Amino acid sequence: MTLCLDRLEEILAGRPAYRARQARAAVFHRLCRSWEEATDLPADLRKLLARQVPLEIPARLARSEGGDTVRAAIRLADGETVETVLMRHRPGRNTVCVSSQAGCPLGCEFCLTGDRGFARNLTLGEIAAQALFWSRYLRDRSARVSNLVFMGMGEPFLNYDEVLAAARMINAPEGLGIGARRISISTAGVTEGIDRLAGEDLQINLSISLHAPDNRLRSRLMPVNDAYPLEAVLGAAAGYIEKTGRRVMVEYLLLAGVNDSPAAAESLAALLRQRLDRLYFVNLISYSRTGKYRPSPEPAVRKFARILEGEGITVTRRYRFGGGISAACGQLTGKERPGGI
Ligand code: SF4
Repeated sequence: MTLCLDRLEEILAGRPAYRARQARAAVFHRLCRSWEEATDLPADLRKLLARQVPLEIPARLARSEGGDTVRAAIRLADGETVETVLMRHRPGRNTVCVSSQAGCPLGCEFCLTGDRGFARNLTLGEIAAQALFWSRYLRDRSARVSNLVFMGMGEPFLNYDEVLAAARMINAPEGLGIGARRISISTAGVTEGIDRLAGEDLQINLSISLHAPDNRLRSRLMPVNDAYPLEAVLGAAAGYIEKTGRRVMVEYLLLAGVNDSPAAAESLAALLRQRLDRLYFVNLISYSRTGKYRPSPEPAVRKFARILEGEGITVTRRYRFGGGISAACGQLTGKERPGGI
């Protein structure tokens, strides 16, 4: 049996408010792994919950050599598998990357998740369970989830309602209580989702994967660009910035000889400068080999960053986490692979 948080609220709906509070606290605050541990609940409710909302989360783990990254493949009730990753950057900073779909329909060229195809959207409970899994894992190590990104398998905005509901559950004080500003959604540029997020009362962060400074190259790397070209994506991002006053992170995956030239950096800077540049910052991502491309060499990465910075654009860099265990960006497949423990 797999944890099915989706049923929890349904069952609690007919109970007194204090019972619902106790049950939620058992799941999200005390991080119980079994309803037997929730001894403040009456035995009949514990039995019902154990049948309808079992708290087990079956997963296979793989750790990177240095132990800074852990990948979990979680088996869902219907046999689908989704992957989620924990990155332990430094003491106190534990970022969890969660999946929003089983597989992905967008088929980005550099991404193994896209290769696997699309199975289905995840439910609110299946998304929140990934965060809960890592909360339990870290609690056992006297640590906590500090940050959470929707950047695993799938395009979050193609599953907007469940993703937002999960983000609210993860953020809520009666849920996992992770601050909204520590939660980020990363989209390949689905503009309807960007527009809707701008109207939400939840102050979570938005990042947009551009990966190319022109439509021809972007369509080659990300076929979704045919439906959501750069102008549309940046137009929606500008609307989001104007409405919320919040900064937007532009994700840019550096591929050797493909999109990492100085000319590409200048084009990217020009694109962003036209549109409220102070509220964009660029995150340069090191490519984790998926067999199709090569990562940009370090001097090319530094030059790319310098050109952007020279144009007044803030640059951050995401180093490879978890490449050795296929847990890095674009490497999540949901398939069983060696490395599980
Ligand atoms: S990079 Fe993201 S949007 Fe593109 S195929 Fe992979 S999971 Fe889907």
